[in-house]
Amino acid sequence: MTEFRADLHCHSTCSDGTFTPEELIAHAASLGLQGLSITDHDNIDAFEKALPHAEKLHIRLLPGIELSASHREETIHILGYGVDTRSPSLVSFCKQHQERREKRNSAILELLRKEQIVITEQELAAAAGGGSIGRPHIAKIMIQKGVVKDLNEAFKKYLGDGKSCYAPGVRFTIEETIDVIHQADGFAILAHPHLIEKRKIVKEILDMDFDGLEGYYANYPKNIQHKWVKIGKDKGWIVTGGSDFHGTIKPYSSLGSSWTNEETFNMLY
Ligand code: AMP
Ligand code: FE
Ligand code: FE
Ligand code: ZN
Repeated sequence: MTEFRADLHCHSTCSDGTFTPEELIAHAASLGLQGLSITDHDNIDAFEKALPHAEKLHIRLLPGIELSASHREETIHILGYGVDTRSPSLVSFCKQHQERREKRNSAILELLRKEQIVITEQELAAAAGGGSIGRPHIAKIMIQKGVVKDLNEAFKKYLGDGKSCYAPGVRFTIEETIDVIHQADGFAILAHPHLIEKRKIVKEILDMDFDGLEGYYANYPKNIQHKWVKIGKDKGWIVTGGSDFHGTIKPYSSLGSSWTNEETFNMLY
């Protein structure tokens, strides 16, 4: 028997990933993963699309989502696992997020126009797969137009938090996001804490009502991952792992590069 591995963090064409939910399942099966959670940004559409394929290929599929929240103007991502995908609070929260994204994306396009970079709403809709549309879709068009050479340059120069063409839009708090996940009977897990730079923010966030944190993340250095695994364990929290695979748009993290073990997976499933 091979070791049980469940990748609990990846994105499909329902947000900013390049693989369809069905393709993600096939890819996970080809890598020998036994569990998966598709955690699209601010929507849960992938679960029902992927479930029949997961059953066919004997992949245990855990309902998942990655919700965007704000704390002191910093973007914080929160993973929700084992949520009831029909929960009225969660469905309504996702709808509010889609409205936030529509307004925010228009504001970003307006700021880009001021920099002589013209992208229409139609071009943006066409670049996305019909789910949550976000900055990576805008970046993809900028690359196609030759404005920037890659995703990193697009975020560094224009789209990253606080850069010249960044618009935050309506903000949702961490507290209300955790509440919605709990109302949907899910577990609220702090995503990739490794990426939060300000110590004060880390301190405040670790005092919040999370059920766990994502200690194993993508292909981050082992010492940094272990620091976070220890922080999670010391708090008595659930410690998960996932790759944050996005497909070809972000080729540096492959599916299964970080994973969750069987015991932890069973607590969430
Ligand atoms: P959005 O959901 O529209 O706020 O865009 C956030 C997403 O953009 C993240 O989940 C990543 O997939 C991607 N992203 C954020 N920062 C960067 C960066 N510096 N370089 C490349 N991709 C990024
Ligand atoms: Fe993303
Ligand atoms: Fe994230
Ligand atoms: Zn992610």
